[in-house]
Amino acid sequence: MAKLKILKVGDETLRKKSRPVDKITPRILTLIDDMAQTMRAANGCGLAAPQVGVLRRIVVIEAEPGKLIELINPEITEASGERECIEGCLSVPGKYGLTKRPERVVVRALDRNGNTVEYVGTELLAQAFCHEIDHLDGKLYIDIVERMLREDELE
Ligand code: ZN
Repeated sequence: MAKLKILKVGDETLRKKSRPVDKITPRILTLIDDMAQTMRAANGCGLAAPQVGVLRRIVVIEAEPGKLIELINPEITEASGERECIEGCLSVPGKYGLTKRPERVVVRALDRNGNTVEYVGTELLAQAFCHEIDHLDGKLYIDIVERMLREDELE
């Protein structure tokens, strides 16, 4: 496995729309493994392929330690409720802001074996699903942030 370079805000790649994965090749699986390693090394709880310069619809999330979720071609099929979130992004290092996200979402995707999987996420996991899937459409949380937090507001 390899640690990949994470692109930072200002890089045009982060603003592009990612293409679906049409075939799960060994190269795609290596990318997923490398993304998981890169996310963990950066102490993140989610990473999307465009953040490592690959415009493919792939996301890894680990909102709870040890519970790695790998999503290929993910789609949010249901969203309900609203919750105020403190949000950060590995591509916007050292900064946090307040956003509003759904309280609960349902996500459908393919797993690494090409099987359709469905996840129900609430609270932090729902936030992570929304945040990472936004990346696949070139969106960053700073686009929807209500207010960035000052340093003295962070514990
Ligand atoms: Zn992000």
